[in-house]
Amino acid sequence: MAQDNKKSEHGWGFQDTRFIVHPDRSVELTGGRYEICGFRMPDFIPFVENTLGVKVDPNDLHERNPPSPVAAPRRNTAFMDALQAALPDARTSEEPAERLVHSHGQATGDEVYRVLYQQLPRAVDLVFYCCDELEAQTLVRLAHEHDVCLIPYGGGTNVSGCLQLPENETRMVVAVNTQGLNKVLWVNKENRQVCVEAGITGRDLELALAAQGLTTGHEPDSVEFSTLGGWISTNASGMKKNRYGNIEDIVESVSLVTPTGQLETLHPFPRQSAGVQVRPMLFGSEGNFGLITKAVMRVRPLPEERAYQSVLFPDPERGVAFMYELSNSSYVPASIRLVDNNQFRFGLALKPAAGVGGRIKSQLQKLFIQNIKRIDISRMAVATIVMEGTAREVEVQQTLLSELAAKHQGFMAGAHNGKRGYNLTFAIAYIRDFLTKLHVLGETFETTLPWDKIHSVNRAIIAETERIHKDFGLPGRPFISYRITQLYPTGVCVYYTYGIYTRGVANPGQVAIDADHRLRAAVVEHGGAVSHHHGVGKFRHDLLKKVLPAQNADLVMALKNTLDPKNVFGVQNGVFFRGS
Ligand SMILES: Cc1cc2nc3c(=O)[nH]c(=O)nc-3n(C[C@H](O)[C@H](O)[C@H](O)COP(=O)(O)OP(=O)(O)OC[C@H]3O[C@@H](n4cnc5c(N)ncnc54)[C@H](O)[C@@H]3O)c2cc1C
Repeated sequence: MAQDNKKSEHGWGFQDTRFIVHPDRSVELTGGRYEICGFRMPDFIPFVENTLGVKVDPNDLHERNPPSPVAAPRRNTAFMDALQAALPDARTSEEPAERLVHSHGQATGDEVYRVLYQQLPRAVDLVFYCCDELEAQTLVRLAHEHDVCLIPYGGGTNVSGCLQLPENETRMVVAVNTQGLNKVLWVNKENRQVCVEAGITGRDLELALAAQGLTTGHEPDSVEFSTLGGWISTNASGMKKNRYGNIEDIVESVSLVTPTGQLETLHPFPRQSAGVQVRPMLFGSEGNFGLITKAVMRVRPLPEERAYQSVLFPDPERGVAFMYELSNSSYVPASIRLVDNNQFRFGLALKPAAGVGGRIKSQLQKLFIQNIKRIDISRMAVATIVMEGTAREVEVQQTLLSELAAKHQGFMAGAHNGKRGYNLTFAIAYIRDFLTKLHVLGETFETTLPWDKIHSVNRAIIAETERIHKDFGLPGRPFISYRITQLYPTGVCVYYTYGIYTRGVANPGQVAIDADHRLRAAVVEHGGAVSHHHGVGKFRHDLLKKVLPAQNADLVMALKNTLDPKNVFGVQNGVFFRGS
């Protein structure tokens, strides 16, 4: 039966997929899209209770309020008339529900919580559904002529406040939904290049390419919903970047429609020395410069073999030492992620009830780990691995990884666990909305750390989480965990996930916003990057200001003024934030 791919309106994911709780307190992920769908997980609520030190009442759900009212749209009638005359067939909408959807991304406290439980300060005035480049050029020209603000909208999955409307914007604001720009325009198999329209989602792109035996290899956790234009704009990174590169390695040229004309970056050669280039300045442009309409991307043949593996380490320190040595080798797998003990236990809590056989097996495994391997289960860290290539390449990687793991007292824990761990990410994305209903608010944010800062920043973030908990007088204990997801010779990308119980707390949404900001600030203060790939948006502009040399900001501003002198693309992300 064909799946209904309707997206959830404001929360995460597909409408047919959500966590529910049964009267016996087990939880279940509905639908059949992911490996963990369709069975009862009895350990999850007890895990939440033990970790947060609170009693959760599954009957006391924090259900969303009816959709918050949206103020009547501002209308620039001269613009609306000109738009109607120039593009009579274009689809537009002033429906409150559609405008609301296009006015936020997926950040927890500042966006999803506000939409579902409170109210957004303002929504876009019109949604324009863009279907081709000519339409884009006409729309941008008219917005420039009539002083209208345009905000490009891809999949709406960013988590940096990139789609939040600037409070000081007085003009009519139009969200430009790009999902009609979704065609693969050409494929050159010999040169391993494709030209793709920017509104295509990762899922549709990969399906179209797979039919031709190709892949971009770009696989962010949001691949089902995020778009090519969004990836370029936020400077995204996929889980398999070790093999395929980050988005800036995959995209070779970009077309951008701006108020001063169409910007084409140089011809997409594999590499070229042609003076200063504009292309790199579009990665991370966050909707401030224009509308990206298409790009040329590198593709590779689908790998002959994909294999999974997992490694258990006695503690995170030995896991990191393994990753450090691996990062200097030539056999880094397509993806390798090291999770700390808290995240490992989180994953275990999402398992079905074991039968008698399963309980015995799990007890034996525990005894083996504790008594034979002499590992303290409460400190154990786990790496999940994806290898891609020819069968022989994968075989060699397996052997070398196993040898390196043994050197760091790790031991291989099997392909099944590796596959489960890798794919769990897609399903775990749904848990945020479920936990919010259980009065648990949380967020995941990332950074880049040099090797010599990993442990000290992790300690600082754990300490800051505890301070935040105390300062806000929150019930129970906080949850904080980390995972290393991307490797570089000089350092790593680390994700932190925190959770707080907010039953009985006044204004929980604001507490979550303040906690997010304090944690992100602590990362930078202790030597981490502003962001590895989520970008700056509205949430990290003050942190960027602290680290960005003034001349750098001036240069970016000069580019903006050249491309968009009247600030049509007035979303005000990153250095352009003018805040209230
Ligand atoms: C569960 C989850 C998992 C995630 N996993 C990852 C991950 O693994 N890796 C990663 O990098 N990120 C990840 N993200 C963050 C997010 O998916 C990325 O930032 C993504 O690149 C945003 O793409 P989008 O199409 O949704 O853009 P949107 O959210 O719609 O927009 C983001 C910004 O880009 C601008 N923009 C969008 N399209 C265009 C265009 N055509 N032209 C000009 N500007 C445009 C918008 O104006 C906005 O400023 C995740 C988010 C969630 C919620």
